[in-house]
Amino acid sequence: MIAMVLERQRTSRVRRQLASPTPGPGEVRVRVTACGVCRTDLHVVDGELPPHRLPLIPGHQAVGRVEMLGPGCTLLRVGDRVGIAWLRHTCGACVYCRSGRENLCPFSRYTGWDEDGGYAEEAVVPEAYAYPLPGPQEDAAVAPLLCAGIIGWRALKRAELPEHGRLGLYGFGSSAHVVLALARHLGHEVHVVTREAQHRALAARLGAASVAEADGRLPVPLDGAIVFAPAGEVVEAALRAVGPGGTVVTAGITMTPIPSLDYQACLFHERQLRSVEANTREDGRELLAAAAAARFVPEVTRFPLQEANEALRALREDRVAGTAVLDLAL
Ligand SMILES: [Zn+2]
Ligand SMILES: [Zn+2]
Repeated sequence: MIAMVLERQRTSRVRRQLASPTPGPGEVRVRVTACGVCRTDLHVVDGELPPHRLPLIPGHQAVGRVEMLGPGCTLLRVGDRVGIAWLRHTCGACVYCRSGRENLCPFSRYTGWDEDGGYAEEAVVPEAYAYPLPGPQEDAAVAPLLCAGIIGWRALKRAELPEHGRLGLYGFGSSAHVVLALARHLGHEVHVVTREAQHRALAARLGAASVAEADGRLPVPLDGAIVFAPAGEVVEAALRAVGPGGTVVTAGITMTPIPSLDYQACLFHERQLRSVEANTREDGRELLAAAAAARFVPEVTRFPLQEANEALRALREDRVAGTAVLDLAL
């Protein structure tokens, strides 16, 4: 198989011809047709996350068909369309796993970090962590749901909006554009704050109630807000924008220091600040069902597999509308 391999961090991915991976017990091998390019991939290739193994095939939003079952598989069949996402192992025994919070399992393992991912023609995944994809969206369009979508969904749940709530989105990349569409489908009003003009244009086209530049004031108090921008001062702005009882959720895995907060303006009146870490499989199943019900098709910018380096560069430079996807049909 052809794969784009990260041999050393802070260097380009190298195109390699590798032997097909063999699925172990409980694993399946998937013929990949598309793989989303995520900001976390950038953290791995740029060295902002420590390497868990090298060489490594990045990518954790892969879509394809099951082509080989390892010993003992019972959930999937050859030919099934499935998605491979970030979470690929939890221990099943710790206090978090036993209380429906497997996203916090200290023994979890991740695709495209601990194990090879989807920047390749074939990938292996434990069948219990693969998502069946019955929805109407084509392969390249469903890929962004597998990380950007799932994380956005978990953040939206943790924002705990009231019915017909007002939601603020700070930063408008791949994850936010999924949240905007699904939150509107659920009857919420969505306000977007982002510094990039092309992201503001996309938010307006997708039905945002208002769109503001980074330093802009929102026209209404919010019931909840999700901060996608990894900038601590934005957390403060979001806390000031939510009304009494409102919740601000930080969705990123990194954040610059949050400035000292004025208690009256930012936290009193039972405002809450919460973070999101990864997701449970339940989050993933819910998100895929919600996206299918909303008939939501993510905006994608396609690149051939061998242009993975260019796709990552475009993402790093904020030049991608919606989500960058490696489309193996190109
Ligand atoms: Zn566990
Ligand atoms: Zn991701």
